[in-house]
Amino acid sequence: MADKNLDVEIVTPERVVFREPVDFVVVPGIEGYLGILPMHAPIVSGLNIGVLKVINKGKETKLAISGGFMEVNKDKVVILADTAESSDEIDVERAKAARERAQNRLANRTHDIDVIRAEMALRRALTRLKAVGRE
Ligand code: ATP
Repeated sequence: MADKNLDVEIVTPERVVFREPVDFVVVPGIEGYLGILPMHAPIVSGLNIGVLKVINKGKETKLAISGGFMEVNKDKVVILADTAESSDEIDVERAKAARERAQNRLANRTHDIDVIRAEMALRRALTRLKAVGRE
């Protein structure tokens, strides 16, 4: 790629998770995955639960994110995520336990169960496992 970079910043309410110049980023937008290169038109988009990919000098880094917002402006990408973890921060056993809990809730649903909540928990767990290649 040319000498141009994207300045990517991923923050949650708790911390700065990632802040680096990169070549390319693929983000789980609310209406599907969005690939952002330098010189991208300015946009604001809601984010989905999904795997975010950062590509720099041919190396791909994956992070699990669970919704939020993204702003792209002048080669700067700011991602405000509800939660975000890089793959080396993800506790695989915790994500597997969360997946099992959510699957059990959905399998044994009664009328007072919060189905949407269980579905969202399942999607977060599956995304975390996908980010570490353990889905
Ligand atoms: P759990 O039921 O295991 O708490 P959850 O999907 O309900 O999972 P969240 O509410 O999305 O958890 O996240 C709460 C906090 O815990 C966030 O800071 C998030 O980054 C962190 N977190 C959640 N699951 C994991 C995991 N498997 N590995 C590392 N951090 C995690």
